[in-house]
Amino acid sequence: MVTTWPRDFPGLGTGASYLARTIGEMSGGRLTVKVYGGNELVPPFEVFDAVQRGTAEMGHGGAYYWKGKIPASLYFSGVPFSMTASEMMGWFYYGGGMELYHEAYAPFGVIPYPAGSSGTQMGGWFNKEINSVEDLKGLKMRIPGFGGEVLKQIGGTPVNIPGAELFTALQSGTIDATEWVGPMNDLAFGLFRAAKYYYYPGWHEPGTSLEATINAEAFAALPEDLQAIVVTACKAANLDMLAECEAKNGQALQSLLKEHQVELRPFPDEVMAELKRVSLEVIDRQAAKDEMSRRVWDSLQAYMEQVRPWTEIGSQYFVNRR
Ligand code: CA
Repeated sequence: MVTTWPRDFPGLGTGASYLARTIGEMSGGRLTVKVYGGNELVPPFEVFDAVQRGTAEMGHGGAYYWKGKIPASLYFSGVPFSMTASEMMGWFYYGGGMELYHEAYAPFGVIPYPAGSSGTQMGGWFNKEINSVEDLKGLKMRIPGFGGEVLKQIGGTPVNIPGAELFTALQSGTIDATEWVGPMNDLAFGLFRAAKYYYYPGWHEPGTSLEATINAEAFAALPEDLQAIVVTACKAANLDMLAECEAKNGQALQSLLKEHQVELRPFPDEVMAELKRVSLEVIDRQAAKDEMSRRVWDSLQAYMEQVRPWTEIGSQYFVNRR
């Protein structure tokens, strides 16, 4: 298994290792998976190619890294101002998402499964305060996926660099700002040493789903019981990463605020409103130029229509009052 993360990096890399270990344990050692961190076998952003070629039989990464090959992959990571982690899981497993996910990757001989979730991410690290949309103009920021497209339309410069290079890029001024994941992962990279302000919420990644990719021929060569183990282990890894992030983000946030004196800021309402307006434009535009993207976006929107009223009267109403 090749991954886009540093090996055993908290949450993401350990999520990949959990998946590998679980497959080994569930199969009683009949199927073992060796994990390679980013750059150990192939560079982080060549994970998909390596799985497609069969250089590796599995990969672990984020679907939106493959937008150049599969434009619809952007939607499978999650959509700005859209679904939370639990809503995403509902869509994948019971709302038609999985079928579309498999269909989008099938032409490449790759089978994807959700295999980790970050939960709601943070907005990112900035060295200046963001008081208006103007403050985002000219900003060179590491932000992948749809979020990057939105920043570009607003007048910023999005860049996508692997996580392991973020700290140096931010500290040296190669980039002005960066988002990464949430408090647990951001603390681990020491991003608080390179930027002063920590903004929330992660409007661009409200419930990001990470993925396992499997070489279709390698999967077909497995007996049915081992195939079932791989699929079930992905589901377990999906749940496990979300649980770990939820548990450790709270702890890490306290450490960032109390030990490292990070300045926490919400994006102003006016900035959020503009980001939301531009996000919907960017997502619709992408759906208009690619058939698969349109089908996935239609499916996501139909699912959102159905689930939103339930989230509002269920978890959201309750959380606001407990
Ligand atoms: Ca992120």
